[in-house]
Amino acid sequence: MYNYPIEGIDGLEIRYDCDLSKMTSFKVGGKADVVVYPKTSEEFRRTLAALEGVEHVILGGGTNVLVSDEGYRGVVVSTKKLTRLSLKGNILVCECGVRLSAAVKACVENGLSGLEFAVDIPGTVGGLVAMNAGCYNKACEDYICYVEAENGVYNKKDCGFSYRKSRFSSGEAVIKAAFKLKIAEEETIEYKLSRFKNARSKSQPKGKTCGSVFLNEGFFAGKLIDEAGLKGYRIGGAYVSEAHANFIISDGASAQNIYDLIRFVKKRVLLETGTELHEEVKFIGNFYENRL
Ligand SMILES: Cc1cc2nc3c(=O)[nH]c(=O)nc-3n(C[C@H](O)[C@H](O)[C@H](O)COP(=O)(O)OP(=O)(O)OC[C@H]3O[C@@H](n4cnc5c(N)ncnc54)[C@H](O)[C@@H]3O)c2cc1C
Repeated sequence: MYNYPIEGIDGLEIRYDCDLSKMTSFKVGGKADVVVYPKTSEEFRRTLAALEGVEHVILGGGTNVLVSDEGYRGVVVSTKKLTRLSLKGNILVCECGVRLSAAVKACVENGLSGLEFAVDIPGTVGGLVAMNAGCYNKACEDYICYVEAENGVYNKKDCGFSYRKSRFSSGEAVIKAAFKLKIAEEETIEYKLSRFKNARSKSQPKGKTCGSVFLNEGFFAGKLIDEAGLKGYRIGGAYVSEAHANFIISDGASAQNIYDLIRFVKKRVLLETGTELHEEVKFIGNFYENRL
């Protein structure tokens, strides 16, 4: 049995030796010693308090992370069961584990417009807020009213939003988020949804991936990777997508294969174009710096 001081959270759902590859979209990675599944915001708060000073990480949908083959020696807090959602007029309040597809569905059912851009982003509300995720010139920050987090309640201007970043990116847990939406006709909402869905189906490769690996910081990372001649480049079971060079696909890869490919792409793009790429994907656990 693992010796983590998780007293304060007895009675909660706790699992040991959990396969993290089943909890991420890359479908790679080893085991976590302990995974805690709070079922209410109060349980989530209790978990976070009990884990103060203990190595831990929050995992939402696992769609923007790469977990090491050795797994994670610490406590994973999964937000999977925090799925309550409520509506106050045109304000949609979601617990952090609400899937974006479920949040969008609630908007459609209640004639509210704004979150359509998130319809096919496969993560959760907590991940959306922490990453300030977005696409097609829309992002989470455009619709946030307030965020209830580990250390307080923040209005939009205090959330520290910038491109794919927020004050929650460095570990402070998002517990709930409230989105301010606009009342709209069903047809308007459906039209926006279909535009976002179509755009994505044309550009997004299929397969086990984390979406865009690198940030687009005033340039398109995929274009630079393409210019460096890396489309289709493969290390073990990991390869750069032919359809979209900012996507790495796992085809029976190890997590280390994916990590090595990320490092290789960064190095080659720097040498070929003079631009340094930075990762959007978050790493969990230990990786090795192989000579490439
Ligand atoms: C096919 C595909 C398409 C994608 N398309 C897009 C896109 O168009 N735009 C885009 O921006 N992203 C995209 N992504 C990436 C990803 O879906 C988003 O970043 C999403 O918001 C991550 O949510 P998640 O719940 O999966 O977060 P996770 O992957 O679980 O976590 C990501 C980070 O957020 C932190 N986190 C998660 N929940 C919380 C919380 N409650 N409190 C604090 N921190 C938290 C984690 O600790 C981690 O650091 C795509 C991914 C895939 C696989």
